[in-house]
Amino acid sequence: MAVIESHGLTRRFGDLVAVDRLTLTVEAGEVFGFLGHNGAGKTTTVRLLNGVLAPSSGRARVLGLDPLADGPTLRRRTGVLTETPSLDERLTARENLTLYADLYGVPRAQVAQRVEELLATFELTERADEPVGGYSRGMKQRLALARALLHQPDLLFLDEPTAGLDPVAARRVRQLIARLSREGGRTVFLCTHNLAEAQELCDRVAVLEHGRLLALGTPAELARRLVHSLRLEIEVAPEGVPVALEVLHAALGRADLAHDAGRITVQGAERERVPELVTALAGAGVRIYRVVPQEPSLEDVYFALHGEVGT
Ligand code: ATP
Repeated sequence: MAVIESHGLTRRFGDLVAVDRLTLTVEAGEVFGFLGHNGAGKTTTVRLLNGVLAPSSGRARVLGLDPLADGPTLRRRTGVLTETPSLDERLTARENLTLYADLYGVPRAQVAQRVEELLATFELTERADEPVGGYSRGMKQRLALARALLHQPDLLFLDEPTAGLDPVAARRVRQLIARLSREGGRTVFLCTHNLAEAQELCDRVAVLEHGRLLALGTPAELARRLVHSLRLEIEVAPEGVPVALEVLHAALGRADLAHDAGRITVQGAERERVPELVTALAGAGVRIYRVVPQEPSLEDVYFALHGEVGT
């Protein structure tokens, strides 16, 4: 079932087209990555899909509703974590959540339990009664994520949820996001420019540039479609390295070759040529122990899309 459907969704600000004829579908239960440089139009899209901004043209349906006409009903069923969530720093985590539970219309009788559960899930129970002003960035981000879940939304929009966090805090937030989708069955629309994060979390990704959709698919599909060369690691008997390098150089021309003891790395080999390379090496008497093609990452896809060479 489609949770988000957009057709030709467009938003202009004066002469600038922030979102340009965006057509996509997000299925129930998936973690959908929305990737793009700063200013690509990610936040504007989230605002359009939540009905807080009107499209210039095109249309969208979110959870079966028209975001603009049914905004309040829709927003009771979506949770949004903005790029810079504002928390009341004078209040404690428990007070912040209780206050927002009321604003989100959580039934009074359920508030205390819901708040308790979220504090526990987001590992904030121990410091729940301290003012938020004294929290680390990671704790504030976890609290903001907890707040976005108070009303148990079916669809969660996360805008750069790990931006500015240290690697440990970022990993904890990523683990929580994975759990929300796996155990909670929620659909997550994740805006990020962190490609490793998207690779780890997302079932499918869309790449946006200047408001336009450049590519859409699973990371593996995009890699197959867009990245035609891969990195190859070849392990040979150390005395065979000079011959192996000669053979590879003759076969691949300008391909990037590096070696360390018996391990040779080839950058930019085409998948189709791997069997031929192995045959040539064996034919030259090189004893081959291992040939490991490294599958291209989302980062390689991203650079391929932008016409640059990945690392
Ligand atoms: P970031 O990763 O930096 O958050 P983004 O992909 O979320 O970027 P948007 O915030 O959607 O990008 O912005 C897309 C473009 O639209 C930018 O050029 C931005 O300056 C412009 N824009 C966004 N909101 C407005 C507005 N209210 N008025 C004028 N221009 C706007």
